[in-house]
Amino acid sequence: MKKLMIFRFTLLILITLVTGLGIFLTRMNYLKVNPHVLCPYSFICFGIPALQGFFSRNPVIIGSIVGAIILLLTPVLGRWFCGWLCPLGAIQEIFYKLTNGKSKGKVKPLISDNWDKRLKLIKYFVLLGNIFFAYFLIQALYMKACPLVALANLGNYLLVSSIVFFIIMISSLFVERIWCRYFCPYGALMSLLLLLGNLLRIPRIMLKVNKSMCVDCGLCSANCPMQIKVEDKNQVSNSECILCQRCKAKCPRQGIDCEFCNKGGKDE
Ligand code: SF4
Ligand code: SF4
Repeated sequence: MKKLMIFRFTLLILITLVTGLGIFLTRMNYLKVNPHVLCPYSFICFGIPALQGFFSRNPVIIGSIVGAIILLLTPVLGRWFCGWLCPLGAIQEIFYKLTNGKSKGKVKPLISDNWDKRLKLIKYFVLLGNIFFAYFLIQALYMKACPLVALANLGNYLLVSSIVFFIIMISSLFVERIWCRYFCPYGALMSLLLLLGNLLRIPRIMLKVNKSMCVDCGLCSANCPMQIKVEDKNQVSNSECILCQRCKAKCPRQGIDCEFCNKGGKDE
């Protein structure tokens, strides 16, 4: 299991480095790629023009297609993209490890569970606002604040997105994956699809807790980057789970498994 965790973290770092290198080469004019083509969120961010890209040579089309494929797979594979592929998620994990890398996972979360639940709703409003501006007012407003744009340093929108990026990174020193949990509209979209999948009982991959093995040590919950109360459940079909499997890796009793659940489901 430790090997899987090392593989996941290495993969995240590699993707971040490749993305960063691509952006750097583009900015140095060695590559002629519009960085937006890499972003799976572009078809929401750019709204109608991105959809029109399906029928034209609009550069965001590749990102849009990738984004649509990820979303289609979400009811079955969960938020695997967040846990395994997103460069922004990786950067946040690295920042959190800078201050908490040596802890044994027993650190009391800075944000209480009640506040965590409330704050997780913010991302749905970000998504709704984004859809409204992109599809009704035909303005890519979200791009002005997107922290990934700060990295890509695109055009005129640098100031606000840089401030957002800076705030997220500083906050990530204290709260793990703060952007993914509370603000990311693409994460919100995936969570909504997961909730729909739960409702329709679509078979999907999820973590299962074997209660007969559990000794209530709480290490699974204490190590969950999304602050999910893993030990309280039989199966983690929580729409916030990013399938990182850290709970499974940290369980001293090997009481957690990542399984394909035929019945899909809701939290039990
Ligand atoms: S880490 Fe394992 S033993 Fe500890 S509470 Fe979680 S499931 Fe139970
Ligand atoms: S429940 Fe487990 S797999 Fe899901 S986010 Fe938390 S630690 Fe990762």
